Amino acid sequence: MFQDVVEIDGAMGEGGGQIIRSSLALSLITGKAFTVTSIRARRKKPGLLRQHLTAVKAAAEVGGGKVEGAELGSLSLTFQPGTLRSGSYRFEVGTAGSATLVLQTILHPLVVTSGRSEIHLEGGTHNPFAPPFDFLDRVFLPLLREMGVNVQAELERPGFYPAGGGRFKVVIDPSRQLSEVDLLERGEVHRFIAVARVSNLPRRIAERELATLENKLDLNRDWLELEEVHNAAGPGNVVLVEIDSEHATELFTGFGQRGKRAEQVAGELASEVLHYLGSGVPVGPYLADQLLIPMALAGRGSFRTTTPTSHCLTNIAVIRAFLDTPVDVRDEPNGTSRITVGTVEQE
Ligand code: AMP
Repeated sequence: MFQDVVEIDGAMGEGGGQIIRSSLALSLITGKAFTVTSIRARRKKPGLLRQHLTAVKAAAEVGGGKVEGAELGSLSLTFQPGTLRSGSYRFEVGTAGSATLVLQTILHPLVVTSGRSEIHLEGGTHNPFAPPFDFLDRVFLPLLREMGVNVQAELERPGFYPAGGGRFKVVIDPSRQLSEVDLLERGEVHRFIAVARVSNLPRRIAERELATLENKLDLNRDWLELEEVHNAAGPGNVVLVEIDSEHATELFTGFGQRGKRAEQVAGELASEVLHYLGSGVPVGPYLADQLLIPMALAGRGSFRTTTPTSHCLTNIAVIRAFLDTPVDVRDEPNGTSRITVGTVEQE
């Protein structure tokens, strides 16, 4: 039924949901149809889950797309994009599935179309293995603004795993041409902001997390914040460390879980932060995979990061399937790397 179809192997590399989300985004932007097989083959429960299905439906709605295989558990999907339309949209994941990952699917297409969009999303806003709302708001969207996109997000209600039920709104004034950014140096670290947030759980959990961070990261007392949330649908706990440096802002998150001690949640987070600080690079591992699509749309951009994750390498493979823009990954000393989107200039 479709012509000139890009073929994507859903089992390649990371073999997760990002392959589907990036393919949907790039299909809407380039107008190329695609087929993906072996969807999420490397995950415990392969196939499309509710969250992925919401992303597929969202892509079809904003881009007038036609889809085959959009069912729960589906292992293959064919998507034919239509015409992108800005406007007001509402998408509900319906479980605690991540709503920020649904946004990841439709954000870039709406960034490069004409006209303002307002997207209302419902579902999880703070899920393990997904960007928490704070990461979007404090790290990712400010970088898109630096690239010339006027985009704002507002959290109306947090949704923690497993209850979900969070709500946020994103307003996008598009930009036909994104500008290049180069994130090669971090510069000096100016300050940290450590936030321990609890919803319907004892304050004591957050206090123990902050004490662990203060101790392991040697933080100033006035960089510590305890937040009690009163409007979430269920219990929840996250702990976040934002690192504000001269040329970069990064944010790492620990997700509280039943049966996992607060000290362990904060201790693992502190290790992630220390690894980032020790590497000296500006871009952490999550931001690295998420920066690739906007940089590819700008046609150029570069950054230094830690060892590329399999999410990062897989996203590069998906970009190469849809776009001609070159992406170069070079090892640098001490387990770091430099990623360049667009033609690499000779030094
Ligand atoms: P997938 O596992 O294929 O569904 O993709 C997960 C996406 O969520 C990737 O883009 C990750 O970079 C992103 N992600 C996972 N954990 C975090 C985190 N703690 N902070 C920011 N982004 C995250």
